[in-house]
Amino acid sequence: MDRHKDSRELNVELIEKIYDVIRYVNPIVKSDDDQITDFKINESDTHCYSFWQSNEVCKNCISMRALNENKVTMKFEYSCGKLFMVTAVPEKENNRVLELIRDVSNDHLLDNIDGLSEDLIIDKIVKLNKEIITDPLTGLYNRRFLDERMPFEIAKAYANKLSISVIMGDIDHFKDVNDNYGHVVGDQVIKEFSDLLMLAIRDYDDWIVRFGGEEFLIFLFAIDKENLIKRIEKIRENVESHVFCSDEYAIKVTASFGIYTNSEIKKDDLDKGLQFIHFADEALYLAKENGRNRCELYKLDGIN
Ligand code: GH3
Ligand code: MG
Ligand code: MG
Repeated sequence: MDRHKDSRELNVELIEKIYDVIRYVNPIVKSDDDQITDFKINESDTHCYSFWQSNEVCKNCISMRALNENKVTMKFEYSCGKLFMVTAVPEKENNRVLELIRDVSNDHLLDNIDGLSEDLIIDKIVKLNKEIITDPLTGLYNRRFLDERMPFEIAKAYANKLSISVIMGDIDHFKDVNDNYGHVVGDQVIKEFSDLLMLAIRDYDDWIVRFGGEEFLIFLFAIDKENLIKRIEKIRENVESHVFCSDEYAIKVTASFGIYTNSEIKKDDLDKGLQFIHFADEALYLAKENGRNRCELYKLDGIN
């Protein structure tokens, strides 16, 4: 038993032999809190994602996942011509994660795996990191991305005193499309609908999640209420005027949208992502009640 105890007493020196970077990150604010080793790419790095020589937050953030799921999480990451193995160890009580990163480019880990070339395997790794946060039918983000991204967006809005807006959109009477044309055509309508949504958002700040079958969550950062309503109304009009599956059928559908916007994020709101989604959902329900093919804004003093 003593032998086991000894082997458990791994000290930092030993861990430093295994990993190139050992750091604490706060994945909600994306800070690189306390880098223990000196593998810094840039002395002024303050964001955890700077390590990846990226100006933007990692899409597939396993530290956020480790914190959300409260379990040790690992991934391979390919960046700047190097292959890294990343391990994220959550420390939930402190809202931080111990990240252990090893550059495994020269470890020949990828040699001769089923006869595949290293390039092909790296392609697969890049694809897997994308797939894990992507809805396969539409190419939009999935619920996992939403769970992992929302806390960061709220913290960012709070820190910069900017607004966030959550919009739930749902295709009206979609069941009829399936009943009349079949599921495969229904899928095509969902895909074209997603493309219309994507046309209406900004590349950098905004994103869209396929929330359920024919239900979508649009996230918009720092947009004032007037422009927000105009933008969603424009999407609604685009859907209304679009001819779906025009090659074979010429299907017409409409959609309803529930809008929640908050330009005064408070410290207490940092874990209110689910509540914001619920508010947008309530507004969507109202849009359906009021006749569909319309947008409704959630109002704090009751949605009527
Ligand atoms: P409402 O206007 O109230 O939203 O009516 P609706 O018919 O759109 O809503 P309802 O929830 O009754 O039906 C949604 C349908 O969407 C039922 C389900 O079979 C279908 N659906 C869900 N996911 C998919 C999918 O991935 N592909 C296809 N083709 N259909 C789907
Ligand atoms: Mg529907
Ligand atoms: Mg629905």
